[in-house]
Amino acid sequence: MGFSRNIFYGIKDKRIIDVMDSIPRELFLPDNIKDYAYVDSALPIGCGQTISQPSLVAYMTQLLELTGKEKVLEIGTGSGYQTAILAKLADRVYTVEIVRELHEKAKQTLKALGITNVEYKLGSGYEGCEEHAPFDRIIVTAAPPQIPPKLIDQLKEDGRMVIPVGPESQTQILKLVIKTPDGVLEKDIDYVMFVPMIEK
Ligand code: SAH
Repeated sequence: MGFSRNIFYGIKDKRIIDVMDSIPRELFLPDNIKDYAYVDSALPIGCGQTISQPSLVAYMTQLLELTGKEKVLEIGTGSGYQTAILAKLADRVYTVEIVRELHEKAKQTLKALGITNVEYKLGSGYEGCEEHAPFDRIIVTAAPPQIPPKLIDQLKEDGRMVIPVGPESQTQILKLVIKTPDGVLEKDIDYVMFVPMIEK
């Protein structure tokens, strides 16, 4: 089985389609829902967390405009599915997860797939990953109430960040943030629904 072509509606970057076709999404799902791996739906991955629908994963990846050379920071490793896609489209990925169980599981899944250009950090996404900053790209897959200032600090000039923003249980807005020499540009892309980015 594989994705129906409808999932890639609006995706102009053929590499994203090839990469998503090459990664078995069922490997990232709990056993009882593996049958739904190719449905365009968000699904539970345990610990109260969810993996986004594949069409949104493709779209957010496209917004990053990856060429293969980038150093990418991902906040919210979750199952590691988005991480695996980034790893195949960028040079190096640093991924941060706050739930230990998910962090450990994602490491194993990506290792089994032979993906080696990823560093996994257990910690809070609000802190980003200071030790490896700055980043060419940042992608956030849990929604904070506001854009965390440290993530803006850790973005390179001309870097792009894709992030859902909004209070818990209200409509969130997916934003594209571009750091230019003249300041930080914010573009609203769409209404979305993500799990909240936990504040501790
Ligand atoms: N992109 C993931 C899905 C992410 S779900 C995938 O492809 O599977 C959101 C993830 O963000 C969850 O795993 C959740 O535990 C994590 N998360 C929530 N708050 C966080 C925080 N403050 N710092 C880091 N990770 C966080």
